[in-house]
Amino acid sequence: MNYIIIPVTNFSQNCYIIWCKKTLHTAIIDPGGEYKKIINVLAKNKNLHIKKILITHGHLDHIGAAYILSKIYKVPILGPHKKDIFWIKNIKLQKEIFQLPECIFKNNIWLEHNQIIFVGNFFLKIYHSPGHTPGHIIFFNKLNNILFSGDIIFKGSIGRTDLPKSNYNDLLNSIKNNILSLSSNNITILPGHGKITNIYQEILSNPFLKFYKNKI
Ligand SMILES: [Zn+2]
Ligand SMILES: [Zn+2]
Repeated sequence: MNYIIIPVTNFSQNCYIIWCKKTLHTAIIDPGGEYKKIINVLAKNKNLHIKKILITHGHLDHIGAAYILSKIYKVPILGPHKKDIFWIKNIKLQKEIFQLPECIFKNNIWLEHNQIIFVGNFFLKIYHSPGHTPGHIIFFNKLNNILFSGDIIFKGSIGRTDLPKSNYNDLLNSIKNNILSLSSNNITILPGHGKITNIYQEILSNPFLKFYKNKI
């Protein structure tokens, strides 16, 4: 699996272009805005076959350009989990909260815990990870030990839980059950904002994971 990161919106949200090296089948993860910037990057990589758009959660900084790109490339939008319907239905509220341009968002498929999504020859496993939003999902590629964590965990931090429908305990449980439980610590985390990190590093230095560090 190869990937490119495109930071979009005032929140520097990491939109990821990921593809299978063999088939060049490609997915766009969380195109949160600035669709022209994303199109420009894809235009420079003309060999890629865009097949789908994947969404971690319903916040505007992660979905803002999804619908327009799905129309341009004629590809479906998959995700998030249906429990994020509150955020999808309240785009106007999101515009107020995040101060971002309004958008249309209609997905084709909600995703479920343990579901498998293929991109060419590799696949991503879905983990429903509530806390930051009720329907947040993360994508794990076991073959390459890469986790797309959305707004669940960041380098040195965790997702916000001060927003409507967020829940701090749920978020910590999601991190514990779906991230720290992954078999290897040697897993690269590609987060929704900020720098790349890995699970081992976060267990050592992320202040929000002290509860876990003390146990090992
Ligand atoms: Zn978010
Ligand atoms: Zn975000």
